[in-house]
Amino acid sequence: MKKMVKGFLLAVSAAVMCVCASCSADIAETGGAVGGTISRSEKTAVNNTDNWELILVNKDNPLPEGYEIELCELSNGRSVDRRIYPDLQEMFDAARSDGLSIEVTEGYRTREQQQEMMDDKIRELRWHGNSKKKAVKRAAELVAQPGTSEHELGLAVDINPVSDDEDPWPLYTWLADNAADYGFILRYPLDCQDITGIDYEPWHYRYVGKEAADEIMSKGITLEEYLTQK
Ligand SMILES: [Zn+2]
Repeated sequence: MKKMVKGFLLAVSAAVMCVCASCSADIAETGGAVGGTISRSEKTAVNNTDNWELILVNKDNPLPEGYEIELCELSNGRSVDRRIYPDLQEMFDAARSDGLSIEVTEGYRTREQQQEMMDDKIRELRWHGNSKKKAVKRAAELVAQPGTSEHELGLAVDINPVSDDEDPWPLYTWLADNAADYGFILRYPLDCQDITGIDYEPWHYRYVGKEAADEIMSKGITLEEYLTQK
């Protein structure tokens, strides 16, 4: 099914609509745990804003001030930085031709949406009987603090099967094996929480460009480790 997509320009602080009709596709319709031995680095990775593909956003590196994003809005309402769109579409086409059910279930997120996610997670954890202090601590391991989420960058996507009833692991395995060919990396690998600050997320992929993606995924390292090696 061909879906219509519209694009728009958006600044982080103030949304400005504009017309960008160059994005068109059907992305929205749409267990590869990478673990093992990780070489730890003592150095701290820092933001490298010279190359947009390698901008680091994590708990120690918030979104650059005034960061501007030109978005493509997908037919299901999700959005991504339009620069990653062609490779994302190509990856989705390849996954579908391999018989997989695939959809972007989360793309760009505003600061306010990220705050809501954090608040919801804390509420949920408290509802399950955790103290406020424990709920806040655990939520911070599961949800990035507002201003420190890659989803606010527009370069990250959560990718899942179209239906919640489907086993996601064939897709997660396919992504772990193939995403680097399209410039995407598994951003929060298994057993790397001490580096990334985020639990294992087999659905969360980050665009870094094909060269960096190939090195990161073939070595089984994190973006933080890759940047400290540069
Ligand atoms: Zn995500």
